[in-house]
Formats: sequence, structure tokens, C-alpha cells
Amino acid sequence: MITNAPKGTKDVMPKEIYKWQFVEKKFREMCDKHGFKEVRTPMFEHTELFTRGVGDTTDIVEKQMYTFNDYANRSITLKPEGTASVVRAFVEHKVYADVQPTKMYYIIPCFRYEKPQSGRLREFHQLGIETFGTGNMMADAEIISLAYDFLNDLGIRDVELRINSIGCPECRKKHREALKDFLAPKYDQLCDTCKGRYDRNPLRILDCKSPVCQELVQGAPMMLDYLCDDCQNAFEELKNNLTAMGIPFTVDPGIVRGLDYYTKTAFEFVSNNIGAQGTVCGGGRYDNLISEIGGPDIPGVGFGLGIERLLLVMEANGIVIPEPESIDAFIAFMGDRGKNYGMKLMRELRLAGVKTEMDVLARNLKGQLKYADRLGAKYTVVVGDNELDEEYLLLKDMKNSSQESVSIHEIKNVLIEKAGK
Ligand code: ATP
Ligand code: MG
Repeated sequence: MITNAPKGTKDVMPKEIYKWQFVEKKFREMCDKHGFKEVRTPMFEHTELFTRGVGDTTDIVEKQMYTFNDYANRSITLKPEGTASVVRAFVEHKVYADVQPTKMYYIIPCFRYEKPQSGRLREFHQLGIETFGTGNMMADAEIISLAYDFLNDLGIRDVELRINSIGCPECRKKHREALKDFLAPKYDQLCDTCKGRYDRNPLRILDCKSPVCQELVQGAPMMLDYLCDDCQNAFEELKNNLTAMGIPFTVDPGIVRGLDYYTKTAFEFVSNNIGAQGTVCGGGRYDNLISEIGGPDIPGVGFGLGIERLLLVMEANGIVIPEPESIDAFIAFMGDRGKNYGMKLMRELRLAGVKTEMDVLARNLKGQLKYADRLGAKYTVVVGDNELDEEYLLLKDMKNSSQESVSIHEIKNVLIEKAGK
């Protein structure tokens, strides 16, 4: 028997699911206020979507994808990230023919074959948003402000917004040459992965997690110093828009996103309180991705925010997510008549919005009341032959242990009122 979940995956059990539901609800509300609508795309896609769309020099595409052939021998990949799928759907459904921009959000599982550790899983979950159809930096500032206000609204105070520009393919060419010149004398000391990156995409070396490479890139030429006029103006515009909205940020020329498709804006929200895996949210602009995937030449911008890391940050900030309310009413019963009456009353109360339970194990009265206690019931009633004959029930307030006699004709309304429904 297999009773262990696969390495790098995690069950979210009922006793902690309220935390997930809480942040997801907040996120939905935030997206709604900002005019983003939910999109649901399949959990798997044709592998090509990622090998072409995500670019082929990133760790994600090269080493981390869950790829397999289905029974018809098609290569299928479990989504390692959200953007490529949303772009594919945007193109497939010709949403670009509608009035732009298109603003969408999603809540999805992502799959990456990584080395599992705190804040790094093989199946993790992302909250994400995308704006398609505009290259204007108002859109970049809008999505950054959404992430900022979402984190703020959750009570998180220790995350810092870092922004950068990684330019366009034009200005990146010059930077690439300068970077290679800088790294050439250090080539032998680079890690094996970075040796491979040197020719194909040296920018990624700046993002290497190995301490040796991190040391070697100290003082390397930074993309910010190589921006063309267009990219430079866009970056100034972004800073201006963020300042206008009152969003504090720092410029971090070291930010290189984990996916190749980014252009111009790159940003991260980083916490210093959850160790090495401190990036809670990462995003940026991708002006060429939609056309790379086969759509029209339309720009886009978006972010992905890891739910597991978000919960870690909230914990580190001492933020207590409100636990769900316990049940309002518990109906204890004796005998068949009591059971029948109780089940009818339970159904009516539930339909009226009162959280009501009975003991479906049908324990004896003492056991039922013990169970009611376990459930944290606010009120209990006991019903048996006597009560039904006399048409009165004993209603017990579990908080102050007081009890009152309530007419069988009134009990439903009394409980509805007590539950505040
Ligand atoms: P990192 O540099 O930490 O690996 P990344 O650049 O790979 O992050 P993105 O692809 O931008 O991350 O994904 C957006 C967010 O998803 C991250 O900021 C993080 O919160 C979360 N995330 C990414 N990979 C994982 C993972 N393996 N496990 C848990 N969360 C993850
Ligand atoms: Mg990564």
C-alpha cells in the first residue's frame, strides 16, 4: 500500500483549508475590484507550448517539467507556470478581436521537478494575473499595485517591492556581449549549469543560486545600464506611475526572472523572513510572448504569486487567519421518533442557514453530547418521546450552560434567531 504522497507534494487537510480559502477569497475580491476576470485553463498542455513559449534556456523548461507521452503518443506537460496557457487560450479564442485590454486572473497548481525544501515544492499553487493588449506602463503599475494591496490587505508588512528593467531583445544584445566579456576570465569557475548558459543565455547566470556564481557576478554589467531609449523611457514611466499611486519600491538591477520571455519590466515582492525562498511574487512584461505562441503582435504583463510561500510569510508575520465559525446547533436524540423529528428539524435549520449537526454514529445520549462539545456547538437541543409528547424541548446554551424550555413550534425560529440568520 502506498500511504505517502509523492515527494514535493502536500495535502491540504480540512483543518487548515480555511487558510487557503481565506487568501483565495481575498485574491478574488481584489481582482474583481481591479477588473480582472477569472480564466480556467487545463492542467496540462501540449509540451510545445512551453518549450517554445517559455523559451528553452531556463531551468524550468530544460530540467523541471513533468512531461510524458499520452496513449496517442502526444507529448503532454503539466503546467509549470500559468502565463503560457492563458496566452494560448487568448489566442485560441481570438479574444484579441475584442476591445482591449484583456485582464484575467487564475488560481492554479503548477508542477516543477525541483529539489523540495521549505517554500519549494514539486506541486505548488499560484495566484496569477495577466493584462494583454497594452504596452503602456499604466498596466504594469496597475498589476504591481494589485499585488501590493493584496499583500498589504492580508497584513503583510515585511515584503519589499523590487523592480528592474531587463530591456528588449535589441538592448539585451549589447548587454549580453558586455556580460560575456566580463565573465570570460571567470568562465572556468562557473558552475556546470552556468557554463552551459554562458553561450546560450548569459543573463541567466546573474540569477544562479550557487554561492560561487553569485560571488563571480559581483560587479557584472547590469542590464539597466544598457537600456535603449524606448526601454529607458518605459522604466522611468513605470517608476513615475508607481510613485503617483503611492507604491513604495526599490530598484534592484539584479532581478532576472526565471523565464526567458520577459521584456522591460521585471519585479519581485521579497520577504526577508522566510529564508532563502523569499520571493513571494514575481512578474513582468512579455511583449513578444503572444506572437511567439502564434498570436498577433500584442504585448502583455503579469505576475505569479506562490500560495505556499504566501502562507509561510503570513505565519512569519504572526498573522492569524480567522478560523471558521463552529456549528450553531446540535440536535441530540433518543429513540426513533426523536431521530425522525431531529433529522427534519436539522434539514430545515440548514436550509435556513443555521449550521446544524446530529450524531450520524447514533451514539447514546451521553456520547452525543460529548460529540456536540467536540464540535463546539453553540446550542444543543435534546429530543425524545417525552419531549415530543409534551411538545417542549430543552435548549442548552453551551457557552454559559444556561438552559430554557422552548415550545416545539418555536424551536426552529428560536434557533434561527440565536444563530443570527
Ligand atoms: P524562485 O526564484 O524562488 O525559484 P521563480 O522565479 O522560479 O522563483 P516564478 O516562476 O516567477 O518563480 O513563480 C512565481 C512564484 O511562484 C514565486 O515567486 C514563488 O512564490 C512561487 N514558486 C515558484 N516555484 C515554486 C516552487 N517550486 N514551490 C513553491 N512555490 C514556488
Ligand atoms: Mg524557480
